[in-house]
Amino acid sequence: MESSKTILTKIFTDYYLTAAQAKKEGKPIAYITAFTPVEILRAMGVVCVYPESYAVVCAASKKAPDMIHASQMAAFAQDLCSYSMIDFGAEHYDRLPYGGLPEPDILIATNNQCGTTLLWFKLLAQKKNIPLFIIDYPDAIGQQLTMRDYIRRQHESLIAFAQEHTQNTIDSQMLVEQVENSKKACRDWKRIHELNKQSPIRLSADKIINALFPIVAAKGTQGTCDYYDALLRENQESPQAELMDATRLLWHGYPMWFLGKKFPAGFDADFQIVLNDYTLWWDLDYEEGVDEMESLITAYSNTYLNRPLEQKIDWIMGLVKDYSIDGVICHANRSCRRALADIVPLRKALSKNKIPSVVIESDMANPDFYSKEQVGLRIESFRETLRAS
Ligand code: SF4
Repeated sequence: MESSKTILTKIFTDYYLTAAQAKKEGKPIAYITAFTPVEILRAMGVVCVYPESYAVVCAASKKAPDMIHASQMAAFAQDLCSYSMIDFGAEHYDRLPYGGLPEPDILIATNNQCGTTLLWFKLLAQKKNIPLFIIDYPDAIGQQLTMRDYIRRQHESLIAFAQEHTQNTIDSQMLVEQVENSKKACRDWKRIHELNKQSPIRLSADKIINALFPIVAAKGTQGTCDYYDALLRENQESPQAELMDATRLLWHGYPMWFLGKKFPAGFDADFQIVLNDYTLWWDLDYEEGVDEMESLITAYSNTYLNRPLEQKIDWIMGLVKDYSIDGVICHANRSCRRALADIVPLRKALSKNKIPSVVIESDMANPDFYSKEQVGLRIESFRETLRAS
């Protein structure tokens, strides 16, 4: 049986090689945003590429500052989301990881995470002169039939759009398989996090971050199911470490991709991040007991960033309780205005429940907005606060 590490390496390299090879073979390529119903496009033989995920690769390989600088030289404002800045800078930069992304034939954007992606993809469509399809997901639709019908019709229009521009038709059996694989991957992804409800935790937060790529960029595939299955098994079976009385922390929001461990220094076995809620944003709510198109409606309209504020805060407070959290570190990520809006109400709810919290200001991908000294001081003083409480 292959180890999770071997499977992950394969998924990662295959993803970039497959996209480059597909371009050579004339297969249709779509650039898509993070919460696009990828299962539909894959079932139509479209090769899907995520520029946001590629921006993470660029940030982790320390290329982001040069690429962001290149986009600033091309007159993009520095206060845009750094993922978009990295993408805009890519065309002016010649040392791209994996040789860059292949050129797309179509673009698909959604508004179930933010408004930035819509503007970003509109600009790409203009510059590259290629067709763009936008999916509108109203928030909090629940079981409202008119809203569900509205989204269903958009998913049908997506199929028509992809068919028109690629000449491919949808393989219904493949769609069923893709959705079933997505459900299974999400179930295992959640269970992997839940291993950390116990003390000591089974997987450090940076290990979970390192396992994120397949559920972001290869959801719906058999390889991703195999990966999470192996990761879960390995960690369920690992010997129980000695019980420690650690301070249990929740890191709210984005990690810092440019740091080696994706989180700042200052944490250890006594003061540990047991959960980063950001990684659970990819545990989508695929509805069971309905057909695959219905299941996709629930999954993609109910993404974390598309929920009303009160629902988001309730969800995080539920995690605080379930994971026995002692303190919360909120990453005020300059790039993401949608996520920034959570911080004030979250801290109010935490304070009401007597859970200490601290805010760290930085950026997920641009190290120019990160001060090691300031962040280090904040973490140290938060540790003192928790010791005294
Ligand atoms: S980081 Fe925030 S602003 Fe940037 S693409 Fe993601 S959701 Fe949108």
